[in-house]
Amino acid sequence: MGRAVIANFSTEGNELFSVPYAALPLQMLRVKAELVSAMERVLEHGRYILGPEVQEFEERFAEYCGTKFAVGVSDGTAALILALRAIGIGPGHEVITTPHSFIASAACVAFLGARPVFVDVRQTDMNIDPDLIERAVTDRTKAILPVHLAGHPADMEPILEIGARHGIPVIEDAAQSVGSAYRGRRTGSMGLIGCFSLHPLKNLHAYGDGGVITTNDRRIYEWLQKARNHGLRNRDESEFWSTNSRLDTLQAALLLVNLKHLDKWIEERRAIAAEYCASLKEIVEVPEEAPECFHTYQTFVIKAEKRTALVEHLRGRGIEALIHYPCPIPMQKAASSLGCRADDFPVTSSVCDRIVSLPLYSEMSLTQQKAVIDGVLSFYS
Ligand SMILES: *Cc1c(COP(=O)(O)O)cnc(C)c1O
Repeated sequence: MGRAVIANFSTEGNELFSVPYAALPLQMLRVKAELVSAMERVLEHGRYILGPEVQEFEERFAEYCGTKFAVGVSDGTAALILALRAIGIGPGHEVITTPHSFIASAACVAFLGARPVFVDVRQTDMNIDPDLIERAVTDRTKAILPVHLAGHPADMEPILEIGARHGIPVIEDAAQSVGSAYRGRRTGSMGLIGCFSLHPLKNLHAYGDGGVITTNDRRIYEWLQKARNHGLRNRDESEFWSTNSRLDTLQAALLLVNLKHLDKWIEERRAIAAEYCASLKEIVEVPEEAPECFHTYQTFVIKAEKRTALVEHLRGRGIEALIHYPCPIPMQKAASSLGCRADDFPVTSSVCDRIVSLPLYSEMSLTQQKAVIDGVLSFYS
């Protein structure tokens, strides 16, 4: 199979697209020599579990985010669960979060026996609306969990202010926002704890699953290091019940390579996003970067009329567009026992019917991007 064919596979299945939603092998090929030598070093030194590359990645990543500490973990979901456990979230507690995110943001809360309390989003950035948070606070509220959706930071200043006023910690779900910034501070560095996914579709990604947690709090950092490894403080002594949520040495070595190139790749994404915005802004609603924010366009989301027909029209032209996310979290079957209704979140419910994520990857050719733009324009003309 040729390189082009490999890169054109759908991210979801086996369908071939002239413009797939993402083309991970194309980015890999740009750094393949570095990846292979990093992999060889690990294969040869043999410290496959918590080897030196894990700590090196943690140090580099903490430096990148501007935090004192980082802890590598197995995936972004484990990052969220560990962060919530670190502050003692459990039965009887409530965690305020957004209805418009990947299921994991709220699932982690429910999985620990606590109740996710959903606060609607703003129509502009589709992040949790700080103006609606305060009235959702009760004496059971033990955390606020904003998500920086699609790479655009949530409005952290009022969120942190409400948290501080009520003594409620803020845990950032920064899974989609590595490298994003708010008033000059990187996402994941503003709350008590930041949670990142290193899933292949995230801007900094492993070649498989991975995750990382950031914090400035030494006690939390030391607890997390044990919690991801059976509560072990050394080979034989476990301090508390836990499980295995470690980041692989091999993935850490590969992540160190990608991290070196991350800022360049983000700039490339931003250039492609700017071109999309300029070409489509008269026809559909394009994402807006708030003046105090640095957007990394992990997902390029437009809001458009007749969304479902638009996606089909693009598919007919060999272009793969996706929906992130068609069903609000509280409306999922998994959430049925919470008894939420769609009109509890009118903004979320209305944006869910209009959003479309267009293909965006650094290696996209001009021809490919033009095909997407022409595809959208032709649908509405
Ligand atoms: C990807 C993602 C997660 C989960 O990360 P995994 O690495 O897939 O477990 C959590 N929250 C958000 C917002 C995500 O996008």
